[in-house]
Amino acid sequence: MQNICILGATGSIGQSTLDVVLRHPSEYRVFALTAHSQIDKLIEQARLCQPKYLVLSDDANYHEAKQALLTSGIKTELLSGAQALADVASADEVDVVMAAIVGGAGLLPTIAAVKAGKKVLLANKESLVMSGELFIHAAKEHSASILPIDSEHNAIFQCLPSDFQYGDLSASGISSILLTGSGGPFRETPLNKLSDMTPAEACAHPNWDMGRKISVDSATMMNKGLEFIEARWLFGLQSSDIKVVLHPQSIIHSMVQYCDGSVLAQMGNPDMRTPIAHGLAFPKRIDSGVKPLDFQTIGQFSFGEPEPARYPNLYLAIEASNAGQYATTALNAANEVAVAAFLDGQIGFTQISQVNQECLAQMAGCQLNDIEAVVAWDHECRSQAQQIVSSYSR
Ligand code: NDP
Ligand code: MG
Repeated sequence: MQNICILGATGSIGQSTLDVVLRHPSEYRVFALTAHSQIDKLIEQARLCQPKYLVLSDDANYHEAKQALLTSGIKTELLSGAQALADVASADEVDVVMAAIVGGAGLLPTIAAVKAGKKVLLANKESLVMSGELFIHAAKEHSASILPIDSEHNAIFQCLPSDFQYGDLSASGISSILLTGSGGPFRETPLNKLSDMTPAEACAHPNWDMGRKISVDSATMMNKGLEFIEARWLFGLQSSDIKVVLHPQSIIHSMVQYCDGSVLAQMGNPDMRTPIAHGLAFPKRIDSGVKPLDFQTIGQFSFGEPEPARYPNLYLAIEASNAGQYATTALNAANEVAVAAFLDGQIGFTQISQVNQECLAQMAGCQLNDIEAVVAWDHECRSQAQQIVSSYSR
C-alpha cells in the first residue's frame, strides 16, 4: 500500500489522479489533498477517499472550510498555508507526491517533496522551468525519483531505453527527440484575426480538457516552449537535440528518433489518466480507465512545423532556454502575469507574447544559486511584467 499526497487535487490533473487512484484501492491510500479556492470540491473529494489531511494553500479560506467540513461530518484534519503544503508533501508517511498545482505556486511544495526523497509525479512543469538545475541537483542529492506526467515527457520517457544515461543521447544511439504539439485552437486562424481571440475561445482546446492557464499556453504554444525547457532538464538535452513537431490529432504524444532510422512513438487517446497511471505504477502497468485507441476508425495523422509568426512564445522560450536559468524563470513569471491579464480581459491575445518579450528584454542576466534567489527573481520579474501590462491596458 502506497500513501499519496495530491498537490492541486481540485484541478484538472488532480481530479484525474484521484480517479486513477480510486480504481486501485488496495494499492494506494490518499494521505493528503490540497486546494486553493475550491472548498466544496475538496470536501467532496475527501468524502470519496478519506485522507488524513486536507490543506488549503491560503489561510484566508480556513474558517469557511472548517465550517463546511464540520457540517459534512467528514473526519479529517484541515490545515492551511505554505508551510502546511510543504509539510504534507514531505511527511514521513508519504511515498508518492503528485505535483499538480498550477504555475510558480507549485515550486516550494514540489521542492519540499524532492528534498524529502519522494517519488514525485511531476505535472507542474513551471517548477522545473523556474528552478532547473537546482531541482535536478536536489533530486539526485536526495534520491527522489521524478516521473514525468506531462504527456510529451511521459511519452519520451516511455520511448527511451531503460538504461538511458542522463544527457547522453549518443550512447543510446538517439539522434533526436521529437516533441509533438497540437498547435492549439488557433492553428488555422488567419494571423490578422489572432488579436481578436477571446479567453473563452483560447480555453476551448480541440483535444484536451485542461485548466485555464495551460489552455491559454497551448493556444500561444508557450506550453510547448515550457515543455522544451522541461525536456532539457528532465533528460539532460541540448537545444539542438529537440525538434518541435505539429501533430494536430494529439494521438502521438512524442517520439524518439534513433540513429538507425527507427522512430519510437508513444500513442494513446488524449486523456491525462494514461501518463498519470504510468507514473503512478511505474515500472508496472495499471488500468487507467482510458478507452483504448481504435486504429480502424482513427482516421489520418498529420504533421508540420510551427510557424514563428503564429507562435512567437514558442521561439521566445527556446531563446530563453539558451540564455540560461535567469531567462527561463523571467519568461515563466512574465507569462503567468500576461496570461492572468488576458484571462481577466486586461490585454489581448497577441499582447501575451509582447509582454513576455518586453519583460525578457528588460530583465538583465543574473545568477540564481538557491531556491530563495529563484523566488526573489520570480517576484521581481512578475512586478516588471505587471508594469508592462498596466502600460498596455492604460
Ligand atoms: P488547474 O487550474 O485545473 O488546477 C490547478 C490546481 O492548483 C487546483 O487544485 C488549484 O486549486 C491549485 N492552485 C491554484 N492556484 C494555487 C496557488 N496559488 N497555490 C496553491 N494551489 C493553487 O490546472 P491543471 O490541472 O490543468 O494543471 C496543473 C499543472 O499540471 C500545471 O502546471 C500544468 O502545466 C500541468 N499540466 C496539466 C495538464 C492538463 O492536462 N491539465 C497536462 C500537462 C501538465 P483550486 O482549484 O482549489 O483553486
Ligand atoms: Mg504537455
